[in-house]
This record gives sequence, C-alpha cells and structure tokens, in this order.
Amino acid sequence: MGRGGCEGTQRHAGLVRWDRFMNHRPLAHRRYEPTHYEHAANCATHALWIMPSALGGAALHWQAGDGWQRLMAWVYGAALCALFTVSTAFHTISWKKSHLRTVEHCFHMFDRVTIYFFIAGTYAPWLNLRELGPWAVHMRWLVWMMAAVGSLYIYHFHERHKMLELLFYSIMAVCPALVILSMPDQDGVLELAVGGLLYALGVVFFKSDGRLPFAHAIWHVFVTLGAATHYYATWRHLYKPCALFPPSLRLLDEP
Ligand SMILES: [Zn+2]
Repeated sequence: MGRGGCEGTQRHAGLVRWDRFMNHRPLAHRRYEPTHYEHAANCATHALWIMPSALGGAALHWQAGDGWQRLMAWVYGAALCALFTVSTAFHTISWKKSHLRTVEHCFHMFDRVTIYFFIAGTYAPWLNLRELGPWAVHMRWLVWMMAAVGSLYIYHFHERHKMLELLFYSIMAVCPALVILSMPDQDGVLELAVGGLLYALGVVFFKSDGRLPFAHAIWHVFVTLGAATHYYATWRHLYKPCALFPPSLRLLDEP
C-alpha cells in the first residue's frame, strides 16, 4: 500500500475515534441524541454542584444579619440547588429514556422552567437587599412574573420555537441587569457582568451539539462558572463575610 493509502486509513481512524464521542446533528425540530460518553458528562458536570449549592445557600443563611438577608439566602440557595438537581435528574432520565419517554419530556420542560426561576432567584438578593430607584423597585416582582410567563410558554410551546425560547431567556437575563446598573451602590456590578459574560459565551456551546463533542457538557461548565462568579459577588457584596466570626472577634477588626 502506498503512502496516500496509509494517510487515508489514519484519517478514517480519526473519524471513527470522534464518532465514538459525538453523534450527527439532528434534523430540524428534532433533539440531538448524545452518545453515552456525552450523557455521562452531562450528568456529572451538574451533579457535582448539588451539594456545594446547598452548602453555599446555608453559608449565606449563616452570615445573614437580618430577616430579609435570611429569606434571600433561602431563595437564592433554593434556586441554585434546583438548577443543578433538576438538570442532573433530566440528563439521567434522558440517558435511560427507552422506557421513560413521557417522563423525559416532562423533566425537559421542568429543566427549562427551572432556568427561568434560577435567573429570578439569582437576581432576588440584589433586587431586595439593595436600595432601588422609584421605578426600578417594580423589578422585584416583575422578575418573578417573567419567570411565570416563561414557564407558561414552555408548557404550551415547548421545543417548537427554539430561538424564541433563547430570546426569552436573554430578555429575562438582561432586563434586571439594567435595573442593577441604575443602583446608587455599584459594588459587585463588575462580578455580575463577568458572570453574565460567562453564560453568554456558554450559549455558543449550547448551540453546538453535533458539531463539537461534549458541547452540552461544556455549556454546563460555563453555567457553573457563571453561577460561581455570581455566588461570589452575592457573598462578597451583599453578605458581610466578617459575620462568620463571633462579635468578640469582630472587635479586633475595628480601629
Ligand atoms: Zn443540560
């Protein structure tokens, strides 16, 4: 066999290798079918963060100085736990779906609904623990209304207009951000923007199923990085880290 034939074989071997990790892109209005490797990665990349989310919510509750801070710690902690738990449950059921097609469909809708409430839950501490302008205070309830309307849309039109769904998520992410930019106290806005940018970059991979192996798992990693950056901003700027220590030790910090 000549040199060209050898290269051809190597190229073919390369294709076979990638085929193990990624399936072909689906036809229009069909969902991408991940390989077993991709299913495992999709489950693992979010399952890993269920327990840290619960601990993170508990840490904020522990550091809370008043009733509102405690309530927001619960709301935000629940939103974080729900995102990673529902996503893990959906991807696990999706992996074993041969007998659970209806359950998988319900969990996919639940997964998408959870994202709306996760966005609302992430903004809740910022909208309720910071001083807002007279028109901006309405975003405190409007953000939950947007989550409810988005959920209704999912219930009636799930998977029918994917780009429209993505547009709704983007609108819900951007509108409260405009309110936060109008706050007199701008501490933490930079971290919030970095977190938002990580989510936005992740969308590139969210739309790359069948083009790039493990694209959805990479999207999960970007979601985790965005959520971690927003958690850090919330912990650092809305909850006082010094509250971790008893009052006698805190006196040492004062001049
Ligand atoms: Zn996912």
